[in-house]
Amino acid sequence: MSTVEPFSAVEIIAAKRDKSILANPQIDWIIDAYTRGVVADEQMSALLMAILLNGMNSQEISRWTNAMINSGEKMNWSMLDRPTVDKHSTGGVGDKITLPLAPLVAACGAAVPQLSGRGLGHTGGTLDKLESISGWQASLSNEKMLQVLQECGAVICAAGAGLAPADKKLYALRDVTGTVEAIPLIASSIMSKKIAEGTSALLLDVKTGSGAFMSDPLKARELAQIMVGLGKDAGVKTLALVTAMDVPLGLTAGNALEVRESLEVLAGGGPSDVVDLTIIFAREMLELAGIKGKDPAVALKDGSAMDVWRKMISAQGGNPDSPIPVAKENLTITANSTGTLLSMDAMSVGIASWRLGAGRSRQGESVQAGAGIEIHKKPGENIVAGEALYTLHTDTPERFARAQEVLEGSVAIGSGEVKRLPLIVERIS
Ligand code: URA
Repeated sequence: MSTVEPFSAVEIIAAKRDKSILANPQIDWIIDAYTRGVVADEQMSALLMAILLNGMNSQEISRWTNAMINSGEKMNWSMLDRPTVDKHSTGGVGDKITLPLAPLVAACGAAVPQLSGRGLGHTGGTLDKLESISGWQASLSNEKMLQVLQECGAVICAAGAGLAPADKKLYALRDVTGTVEAIPLIASSIMSKKIAEGTSALLLDVKTGSGAFMSDPLKARELAQIMVGLGKDAGVKTLALVTAMDVPLGLTAGNALEVRESLEVLAGGGPSDVVDLTIIFAREMLELAGIKGKDPAVALKDGSAMDVWRKMISAQGGNPDSPIPVAKENLTITANSTGTLLSMDAMSVGIASWRLGAGRSRQGESVQAGAGIEIHKKPGENIVAGEALYTLHTDTPERFARAQEVLEGSVAIGSGEVKRLPLIVERIS
C-alpha cells in the first residue's frame, strides 16, 4: 500500500524559487522524504539551487539543520568522566591542525571525539592524511570509538553511516550541482554532524582568504555567526575563530607530508604558524570544556601530547613507528628573482598539490600518500633567484607539468609591503 505524502516537492521548490519562506513542516518533510528516496535527486538539486540563489532566514536554517540531525542517530558521551570538546575547520591548504590538536587537548584532560572528513576539492582531509600511516583505520563502530576515547582521550575517525544520513546524500548532490558554496547549506551541513556527534563544546575554525571556500572575510563572518547560533541553540558551547587561509599553513601540503610536519609539532618543533594556531585552539577548547590550570604549550614540549598520539594511532590499528611514505619522484621549483617574498597564494598551492595526486578528481578515487608540496620560503622571508621555493612530490611524474602550470605566478617577490592576513582574523562567540 503506498502512503500519501503530505507535501509536493514541486510546490516546495516553486515556493523557494519565488523567494517564499519555507514552513517548518515543509522542511521536515522534504529532508525526510529525500533521505527515504521519495524526493528525487533532480528535485532536490532544483531546491538546493533555489536556496543558493534566494537564501534562507535563520528560522529556516535552524529547522533544516534539525531535520538533518533527526535523519539519523545522535551520539551520547555522558558516560565519560571528562568533558567533551571538538574542533571543526571549514577546510584549507596545509591545514593539519587537527592532527596535533586532538591529542594535545586530550593530554590536557578533555575528551575529543573528532569526526573528520576526506579531502574536498583543493583542500586536504584529515582522514586521507592519517591513512598514510600504515594500518590506521578511519572507520570505527560506535563501540570502538567509545573504547578509543576512554583509553586515549581522543579519537579521530569517519562519521558512521547512521549519523546525519541526510547530509551524506545532500553533500554528494551539492558537490556535483554547483551548490556547495551556499552559506545556509554549509552551516547546516557542518552543524548537523557536529550536534549529532554529541560533543558538549565546539570550536569552529572558519577559514578565510584565497585558499578557503569563503574567501571573503565578511562571508566567513556571516557563516561563523550562523554556526555559533545553531550550536548554542542546540545547547553546545560554541565559539568560532575566523582564521587566515590566504597563505598555506605550515611548510607542507599533502597527506604524508602533513603527517610528518604534525609529528614535528608533537615533538616540540614545527613551523611557528602551525604551532601558534594549535596552542591558541587548544587554549580555547580547554576554556570551552571548563578545564583550568593546564598549559598546552607545556604539553607539546614535555611529550605528553605525543604519548596520546602514539596511543591513539595504535588503538586505531596504526603503527606509530612505521616510516611515513615518501613519493617516488620530486621536482624543485626555484625563485626567478631576488627580493622579499611578498605573498604566496594558498589556492594555487592547494590546486597544485591536488594535481600531484594528494586529492581526488572523482568520488571514491584513492589518493597518493606521498604526493604534495614542500614550501621552502614563506611570505616575509628573503629569497635569491635560483634558490628553492617549492619541492613537488608525486608517484606519477607526468603530473608535474600541470602542477607547475598552476604555481606560475603563485608568489610575488620584490620590495614592498608583505600582504598577509593575521593568523586570527576575528573571534565570534
Ligand atoms: N564541510 C562540510 O561538512 N559541509 C560543507 O558544506 C562544507 C564543508
